Amino acid sequence: MREIKKGVVPMKGSEVEEHTNKVYDSLEEYAKREGLDFVRYKTVAVGYLDITEEYQKGPVSQNFINKLKIAWNTGGVLASLGYHECEFCEGKNKATSGSEKMLRDEVNKIEYRFPQMIFHYIEEHGYQPPEDFVLFVMGLDKGIIK
Ligand SMILES: [Zn+2]
Repeated sequence: MREIKKGVVPMKGSEVEEHTNKVYDSLEEYAKREGLDFVRYKTVAVGYLDITEEYQKGPVSQNFINKLKIAWNTGGVLASLGYHECEFCEGKNKATSGSEKMLRDEVNKIEYRFPQMIFHYIEEHGYQPPEDFVLFVMGLDKGIIK
């Protein structure tokens, strides 16, 4: 059974995307009604691993991890969609995290969301993020991340 804490949205990637899409649906509707401009981004959730789903494993370059850390530390971090405990850690010292980051690919109109836990998943559990995300992060400059 998945334990859902009060006020917390489950952190499965598909659920994060669904939740975000619903929020944007209503924002878009509102914008249309009010005649406002609205740029719709495609939400892509990266690194919300769940014990019930297979995840991609493979090598990840230290360069990518460093860039992602810079991105994480630049600008704001979202208060989070929820608190999450690592489901892959055995024993008592499970990693936990409750924050996430959003990065926008302005060229392809993609909004990437990833949890702080992504670093733990990469470094401790061999997680390999999708190639599109890796390429996007590798192309980021320190100064342009919002
Ligand atoms: Zn873990």
